[in-house]
Amino acid sequence: YQAKRDRSGCEVYEAKRDGNTPDRLGLLGDLRRALDAGDVELHYQPKVGFDGRVRGLEALVRWVHPERGRVSPDEFIAIAESSGLMPHLTEYVLETALAQVAVWRAAGLMAPVAVNVSPRDVHTPGFAGSVAARLARHGVPPGALQLEITEHVLLEDPQRAADTLAALTGHGVKMSLDDFGTGYSSLVHLRRLPVSELKIDRSFVARLAIDAEDAEIVRCTVDLAHSLGLLVVAEGVEDDETWERLRDLRCDAVQGWLVAAAMPPDETTAWLRLREAAAGPGQAAAAAAP
Ligand code: C2E
Ligand code: MG
Ligand code: MG
Ligand code: MG
Repeated sequence: YQAKRDRSGCEVYEAKRDGNTPDRLGLLGDLRRALDAGDVELHYQPKVGFDGRVRGLEALVRWVHPERGRVSPDEFIAIAESSGLMPHLTEYVLETALAQVAVWRAAGLMAPVAVNVSPRDVHTPGFAGSVAARLARHGVPPGALQLEITEHVLLEDPQRAADTLAALTGHGVKMSLDDFGTGYSSLVHLRRLPVSELKIDRSFVARLAIDAEDAEIVRCTVDLAHSLGLLVVAEGVEDDETWERLRDLRCDAVQGWLVAAAMPPDETTAWLRLREAAAGPGQAAAAAAP
């Protein structure tokens, strides 16, 4: 299985999480230089409905360190967050993703793209305006961009976060609540955040088919989200049984290695084209068949 082979076949560097060790500072400097040199890449992972239709693509940052090999995003995002480099990384990701969206749209591929933003970004003054200006500069309609946030945005100055998110949705950008169910989940957050999509964290999805409690948590989350008018996406779907359970629980879309891992831009383009061909005349013919 391609994606898994790729992952296990790759060396993933993990720095120790013990503050500003020389290692960490070294990585930070290297990351800053990699961003300036354009050596950080985005891969794209599809979000797909149970009818097989592509609902969108999530941009996931990829960095291959010249000496250490691939560094996990969890690792260098944490470093960027604690060092002040995060706004720069987010600008880079937004810029790269929007340029790609413009290329795809010009080629008739209209899938919206989701970009992960950190709490730090949401609290950066002028963030909403800068996103709107960037969209305009790339000629991308705001509805083609989604921003994935986590509940952590509400930890510090919830009112300011809510104002920024309201400004973004006011511009027409869609918000998605990522990793739902981890950490600080609360019904108050759901009411307070102007999100249109909720993503159930992989930790609940992974054991859905074998753990009755996880299944119940997912069922309740889907029902709650739907009663609030939100779409529900399940993260980390790796097998058919989980896919079937999620469909039966009326989840709206899935993301995971079962469908596709995150792919480089060219591979994503080819994947989208294949999907389009499969969902086009083929599906119509199948539907018309007796
Ligand atoms: P996330 O936003 O929750 O992204 C989902 C993570 O799960 C990704 O890991 C994805 O590659 C992985 N994944 C997808 N499908 C499967 C599956 O079926 N099984 C398993 N086991 N894993 C799956 P990745 O790319 O390593 O990213 C980790 C986290 O780093 C992301 O979690 C996100 O929080 C953060 N991140 C990634 N790119 C960016 C970015 O551009 N900006 C910011 N601020 N954060 C980012
Ligand atoms: Mg995400
Ligand atoms: Mg997530
Ligand atoms: Mg997650």
